[in-house]
Amino acid sequence: MEFRFTPEEESFRGEIREFLRRELPADWGGAGALGEADEDRWQFLRSFQRRLAERKWLTLGWPQEHGGLAASHMMQVIYSEEMTYFRAPTQIGVGPDRVGPTIILYGTEEQKRRHLPGIAAGDTVWCQGFSEPAAGSDLASLQTSAVAEGDFFVVNGQKIWTSFAHKADWCILLARTDPEAPKHKGISYFLLDMTTPGIDVRPLVDMAGRHTFNEIFFDNVRIPRDCLVGELNRGWYVAAATLDFERSGINRVVTGIRVYEDLVQYVAQSQQDGGRRLPDDTRVRTKLAELAIEFQAGRLLAYRVASMQARGQIPNAEASMSKLYGSELQQRLAGAGMEIMGMGGQLEPGSPWAPLQGRVEAFYLLAVALTIAAGTSEIMRGIIAGRGLGLPRG
Ligand SMILES: Cc1cc2nc3c(=O)[nH]c(=O)nc-3n(C[C@H](O)[C@H](O)[C@H](O)COP(=O)(O)OP(=O)(O)OC[C@H]3O[C@@H](n4cnc5c(N)ncnc54)[C@H](O)[C@@H]3O)c2cc1C
Repeated sequence: MEFRFTPEEESFRGEIREFLRRELPADWGGAGALGEADEDRWQFLRSFQRRLAERKWLTLGWPQEHGGLAASHMMQVIYSEEMTYFRAPTQIGVGPDRVGPTIILYGTEEQKRRHLPGIAAGDTVWCQGFSEPAAGSDLASLQTSAVAEGDFFVVNGQKIWTSFAHKADWCILLARTDPEAPKHKGISYFLLDMTTPGIDVRPLVDMAGRHTFNEIFFDNVRIPRDCLVGELNRGWYVAAATLDFERSGINRVVTGIRVYEDLVQYVAQSQQDGGRRLPDDTRVRTKLAELAIEFQAGRLLAYRVASMQARGQIPNAEASMSKLYGSELQQRLAGAGMEIMGMGGQLEPGSPWAPLQGRVEAFYLLAVALTIAAGTSEIMRGIIAGRGLGLPRG
């Protein structure tokens, strides 16, 4: 692994910073509660996407013939690092980083012509309809069915935890097309227009009060045959490719670094805590020092994933290590923040007395989901044990 960035990479970093300083509002604190009533905020996010698209930054890693910049993995890491640090909205939904690359790999020429330009331009929002109430970690157990009927597949069933389904124009959908086959071999992968009759999207509000994910119910939803991606009953392998486009995980670490810096500033400026200044408290100083070291380790784990990708290797246990460490580190940071801030830390964003505008409180609640989304910690540990350490399955 090379521990320095090239001059070209450093110059790209500078270009991104300059762009973000110019384009983001001066008081920008992050995308926050997407999908809530604030229409102006939503419109800002949409127009920001289009500005990223104009520079081809939404599709940084796509091949040039499909509207991308064919940027290296390291360039993509730098982009993700800077965008996350400035709390900029990188993309809405899963179009640019998951759907586009999957269509490039498995889609028909017609699917490419129809969908790639809208994704690259930041015009279409996509959601990922994979998980079901009884199929999350064991995704291959999914039960939503798609039955062939003439030129259509008729879909019935339910999805859950579908982020941005309430805002999405299209959905990548996994459904069972052969109930008799072994479970991995009877699944197909579809592109579903969310305006199709028979789709019912119901909100799920998380414990931070945000509406980002949803349940989706399908009642005789008719998907045209030409919306099938890849071969019939081979959708499991297409889905595996979609999930493989998950990146190095640098964004997880950098989100935390930003909150960490806020916390350090809070401690430095705080006056009293029961008669004692927080910066003089050895426990606080030690905790902050430990976290600083852990963030450095988290950053290097993420760089290692990108560095392997850059050399044409496929990170497997290494990507799981980055995911596990980065997500659990954020929870440790959130816990430390709440302890250091004491009772005041529990005040929500919007409260005039909330330290750091309630950002640590919000982070504490949101961090809970991080060890579940994109693979739980137990699943990550299983991968590290099996594929990384070569241990036998339990
Ligand atoms: C914020 C957020 C956004 C999400 N967005 C989407 C989305 O847009 N689209 C989508 O399709 N899904 C989405 N999900 C769903 C996510 O992929 C699943 O929640 C995740 O895969 C876990 O599945 P599950 O919730 O069914 O839990 P389960 O798989 O039922 O797991 C329950 C518990 O059992 C443990 N467990 C399960 N299997 C094993 C095993 N083999 N070994 C050891 N322990 C095990 C798990 O670690 C967990 O602790 C989202 C989830 C979150 C939290």
